[in-house]
Amino acid sequence: MFLEKDRNNSERTGWIEVVCGSMFSGKTEELIRRLNRARIAKQKVEIFKPEIDTRYDETDVVSHDDKTVSSIPVQNASQILFYAEDFEVVGIDEAQFFGDELVSVCNELANDGKRVVVAGLDMDYLGNPFGPIPKLMAVAEYVTKVHAICIRCGNLANYSHRTVKDDKLVVLGETDAYEPLCRYCFNKARREIEDKKD
Ligand code: ZN
Repeated sequence: MFLEKDRNNSERTGWIEVVCGSMFSGKTEELIRRLNRARIAKQKVEIFKPEIDTRYDETDVVSHDDKTVSSIPVQNASQILFYAEDFEVVGIDEAQFFGDELVSVCNELANDGKRVVVAGLDMDYLGNPFGPIPKLMAVAEYVTKVHAICIRCGNLANYSHRTVKDDKLVVLGETDAYEPLCRYCFNKARREIEDKKD
């Protein structure tokens, strides 16, 4: 469980939190939980997400348990700087879809005194580090890895295995296109796909 730092310091300093993990690991739920608590603390809160993520709704960050929070879709990371000016806490969802530019944007926001909470996939469907997330994990003060449950064996899952044949990095409509797997089951599933190719 992530426990917030007390904000009642006389000196205003910001910081970066990263919440990352596989599909179905509860990243967005955790982002929303933190931002709701900040809202209860009467802080000015806003969530941004890349325009690419239009799975359910154009303007809402929607997590899988249907707790919705409104958000601003942006075309690139630098637009966040423009919109975030009046907010104390800035949430960024589906952050893996932004470019590396997001790293300097988050640093700038935090240097400006804002609390920045970033949620995103740490790995793509092949198990490779995804977009700006690895660099964000390096510059963040706090990193939380959340886990899904492996649907094949019940262990903790940290891979998002793609169940449909498609080589694009981004496939939307995640519920039927991916399954969360542990390291053992993921390697087994990848081997089976490679064997079929031969
Ligand atoms: Zn497993």
